[in-house]
Amino acid sequence: MAKLTVEDLQLEGKKVLMRVDFNVPVKDGVVGDDNRIVAALPTIKYVIEHKGKAILFSHLGRVKKEEDKPGLSMRPVAEKLSNLLQQPVTFVPVTEGPQLEEAIDKMNDGDVLVVQNTRYEDVKDGEYVKRESGNDPELGKYWASLGDVFVNDAFGTAHRKHASNVGIATNMPGKAAAGFLMEKEIKFLGDAVDNPVRPFVAILGGAKVSDKIGVINNLLEKADKIIVGGGMAYTFAAAKGEKIGNSLVEKDKIDVAKEILTKAGDKLVLPVDNVVANKFANDADSKVVEGDIEDGWMGLDVGPKTVDLFKSVLADAKTVVWNGPMGVFEMPNFAKGTLEVGKFLGTLSDATTIVGGGDSTAAAKQLGIADKLTHISTGGGASLTYLEGQPLPGIVALSEK
Ligand code: AMP
Repeated sequence: MAKLTVEDLQLEGKKVLMRVDFNVPVKDGVVGDDNRIVAALPTIKYVIEHKGKAILFSHLGRVKKEEDKPGLSMRPVAEKLSNLLQQPVTFVPVTEGPQLEEAIDKMNDGDVLVVQNTRYEDVKDGEYVKRESGNDPELGKYWASLGDVFVNDAFGTAHRKHASNVGIATNMPGKAAAGFLMEKEIKFLGDAVDNPVRPFVAILGGAKVSDKIGVINNLLEKADKIIVGGGMAYTFAAAKGEKIGNSLVEKDKIDVAKEILTKAGDKLVLPVDNVVANKFANDADSKVVEGDIEDGWMGLDVGPKTVDLFKSVLADAKTVVWNGPMGVFEMPNFAKGTLEVGKFLGTLSDATTIVGGGDSTAAAKQLGIADKLTHISTGGGASLTYLEGQPLPGIVALSEK
């Protein structure tokens, strides 16, 4: 990888500004799932073990008005972090000003400080000014002035140009490096897309073709096969002239789907049968159909022949990237296609299997197959941007090796 990592930095005695992803669920002042905090620990521990002063920035939820602020304070997150690290963590309830500056001045080597939610900067005096989300140049410059070096470990926001990632990195007089989590994401997603061990198979699913057109176009040039399932497959079926009944379809994307079909030839692998239902509900009447779907019925999952077809395509794959479920996996009666494909991925012992974040991560976890896969990306939007072959501003802004 061409970017500096935290291991390349001189940390001792340095004020190390760190962008982490602490965007965790908080209810009534209590952190729910602490996975993201746990995931950031290796980089934080590395910094403090090397006698850096760790100054942590993260966003939490969306702040659009003053009233959003109290419920989105970083305080409970700082407390949770203190428990996990088993050392005191200073929480500073503001995002700028003397209180923050003095707290940083008082830090000793190896101390940890959590800054208030960076998105508090999106609302000033009741106005939605988006200083953080809009990458206000003054804010990035100010935050960068608080430290000596910068470590970005928040892959989930790498596709966004915010003050707390791009703003700090570009204004940092010292170096800006990737943390371990970020490094891992770049390694797995980067290698898969740019340097895959072949055959390289992509599995794309989920609701909409429109969300994945960029991904399909980019992967058509890179992957050996692209499997398409989920709701988006019906727009392709419609483009082929098949009847799709009441299945999900994006009528304005049928022409794009036609173009992709022509360009893709046999690279694109589409469902050959579907589980159709008479309503969008788990307790709907359902049946398996091949080919045309009658009016009054909608495809909610891929059928058993499709699962076999997809498995046969995946059987000799050496690299697999999976983004999007094969059906409405949230409803147990229509989760089978996603489950079977996911389980099969888990059996590919000499393949690198990567889940591209978002709903597929949720599906892999819900279906209990997450630990059988090589890498589960922590960023849905960021990994899609990567799969589209687009640069990620949060990574671009880091220093080169
Ligand atoms: P995405 O966010 O694009 O990955 O889409 C994920 C969503 O697509 C999930 O909530 C699924 O329930 C939904 N989905 C998958 N297959 C279908 C389908 N055949 N019809 C309607 N929704 C679907």
